[in-house]
Amino acid sequence: MEPLRSLILAASGSERIRRLVSTTPGARNVVARFVAGQGVEDARSAVSELAATGRYVTLDHLGENAGESGSVDAATRAYVELLDALRAGGLTGRAEVSIKLSALGARADEALALDAAARICAAAHECGTTVTIDMEEHDSVDRTLRVLRELRATWPSVGAVLQSALRRTEADAEALAGEGSRVRLCKGAYAAPPDVAFAKASEVDLSYIRCANVLLAGGGYPMFATHDPRLIAVLGERARWYGRRSGTHEYQMLYGVRPDEQVRLAAEGETVRVYVPFGEQWYGYLMRRLAERPANTAFFLRALVSR
Ligand code: FAD
Repeated sequence: MEPLRSLILAASGSERIRRLVSTTPGARNVVARFVAGQGVEDARSAVSELAATGRYVTLDHLGENAGESGSVDAATRAYVELLDALRAGGLTGRAEVSIKLSALGARADEALALDAAARICAAAHECGTTVTIDMEEHDSVDRTLRVLRELRATWPSVGAVLQSALRRTEADAEALAGEGSRVRLCKGAYAAPPDVAFAKASEVDLSYIRCANVLLAGGGYPMFATHDPRLIAVLGERARWYGRRSGTHEYQMLYGVRPDEQVRLAAEGETVRVYVPFGEQWYGYLMRRLAERPANTAFFLRALVSR
């Protein structure tokens, strides 16, 4: 399946394929499975729908990749508008937002990104909810954690994300496991060289468990982002071992991925949060999800040809 994966990733840059996906009914259904829609109203209705089965949400706005201060301002305003809509819909108890510092211009100007993130954190605080800062490429981890520290000085509930694929992460988990700290633990979605990241999936999984132990032993609120059934079983057992009651940690999964498992965990009394992407720039996100999993790719290609 590796050639298929490369093909899908190559297609993620193609405007022609994006148009084909937007206009093919079968493919539109695949988009709708992974992306909540393009506008704030779509995001709001996804939150309501998920809340109806006891799930919580973190919303990711898929906007232009930033660099210019104009697009940073647009991305910031999109989040503020979203937060206002959530408040108006009485949904801020159910939903927080996830932001990417690269979309706020961090690659070119860290101070600009900090300023934009602070505006979003202030708006979230005013609405009675909070923000989690997604983790991106390995060479942005220090910058992201610096910005996180600055934001937490004013809004202590701002969430961090750690990637178990990185060799440094167990130490980062120790540093972030303190009282009141919210930390999402994921495997990591970005390629990294072997001196920085574990190469084998089994090493990434073992690192995940070591980091989870550190977070569960600490006084913070761990957020376990994974669809992996084996990890989810181990995490449940580790949480019990550390005497963690439900509500003192949570599970997170992506919109459209293992929805039955999301509902099952929520029905068992676990806190389950769904990462819901929405926005005009849905195409790159969709292609990354498809490339991640060959079964999804085959499903998508079938939908594309069954016009
Ligand atoms: P994988 O190793 O991909 O899969 C393990 C097993 O899980 C599979 O064998 C299968 O049984 C099951 N599974 C996985 N996917 C599916 C599927 N589509 N359908 C059915 N079963 C499936 N990455 C970052 O780098 N930074 C972030 O900020 C970030 N935030 C995230 C937030 C959330 C809520 C989630 C869920 C993921 C996030 N990720 C982030 C992505 C993450 O790092 C992984 O790339 C992604 O979640 C896949 O890893 P996995 O743990 O599901 O396990």
